[in-house]
Amino acid sequence: MRKKSLKTRALQYAKIGFPVLPLHSVTQGGICSCRDGGNCSRPGKHPKTAHGVKDATIDRVRIEAWWTSDPHANVGIAVGAEAGILVFDIDPRNGGNKTLEKLEAELGPLPGTVIADTGGGGSTCTSRTRRSGSERIITESCSAQALTC
Ligand SMILES: [Zn+2]
Repeated sequence: MRKKSLKTRALQYAKIGFPVLPLHSVTQGGICSCRDGGNCSRPGKHPKTAHGVKDATIDRVRIEAWWTSDPHANVGIAVGAEAGILVFDIDPRNGGNKTLEKLEAELGPLPGTVIADTGGGGSTCTSRTRRSGSERIITESCSAQALTC
């Protein structure tokens, strides 16, 4: 199966309501595309846009333009309270699976959501949240099949 382009993935995220922005990329030699190059402390993991996460959008035209201009840009997703998106980084090298088991034993199973594999052999679960009084409630967002790559 052919791997989907980063533009296609960015558009898929936007289609389900996740605001995206282009991030710097990393060359095969591990050098960041930013002006710090090999001295970058976060290669491929920081915004390319002037206002960073504030530039994140679900606007298809803007997303097409970003990834047409730089097809290698990594895809960033705006998360947090303002975006209404909560991310669990499950890193098995640091006990992430056991932490998730404990969390679900205490609170019940997490709702169906988007799951992405990470470079470290773990995964991230992305859930939508809504405010209920002073609390944020995790709600179902979309099916995992929506972003199968
Ligand atoms: Zn960099």
